[in-house]
Amino acid sequence: MHAQNVALILVDLQVDFMPMGMLPVAEGDQVVPIANALMPAYHTVVATQDWHPANHGSFAANHPWRKPGQVIDLHGLPQVLWPIHCVQETWGAEFVAELDTDRITRVFQKGTDPEIDSYSGFFDNGHRKSTGMAEWLRARGIEEVHVLGLAADFCVKFTVLDALKEGFRTTLIREATRGVELEAGDVERAVAEMREAGAEILV
Ligand SMILES: [Zn+2]
Repeated sequence: MHAQNVALILVDLQVDFMPMGMLPVAEGDQVVPIANALMPAYHTVVATQDWHPANHGSFAANHPWRKPGQVIDLHGLPQVLWPIHCVQETWGAEFVAELDTDRITRVFQKGTDPEIDSYSGFFDNGHRKSTGMAEWLRARGIEEVHVLGLAADFCVKFTVLDALKEGFRTTLIREATRGVELEAGDVERAVAEMREAGAEILV
């Protein structure tokens, strides 16, 4: 059992990020049994949930003549366009059925504002609004977080970087994450960036 001041953060273990989902992450399903095996060792387990309205600005389909993978300016921020995914109240936005959700202490939803995306579980991509996760963790006495989930090169990376900025000792559980890899090597570059920012990388 980990100490009371350590929390596990599960990033976006949702249907649409599984291999059969709308924004598939290769081998994303392999992360789920590892998450299930780890959860009992933590007093606090937090899950982030990508939770978009249908008119979300990160969806290529909401921009005429744009397609997934292209980058646009979305209200002043560069935005990678994605397939429609994790739409509120749809199956794709649900946690995968195999995940032991009974062990989750608290869920933090993100990406609810149609005008800005939110990769990190802590803040939107412009750092304009907090999801309340850092404040909630601190109120529980959490000083250290262990992070796993999807995808390594986007939501996991930004969650880890924000956890460090918020002052939490932060460990990435490397075997329990997989990446989108828009470009080959993106995951390794993301891991290097997390390490340089101060994260422990647990292989
Ligand atoms: Zn999203």
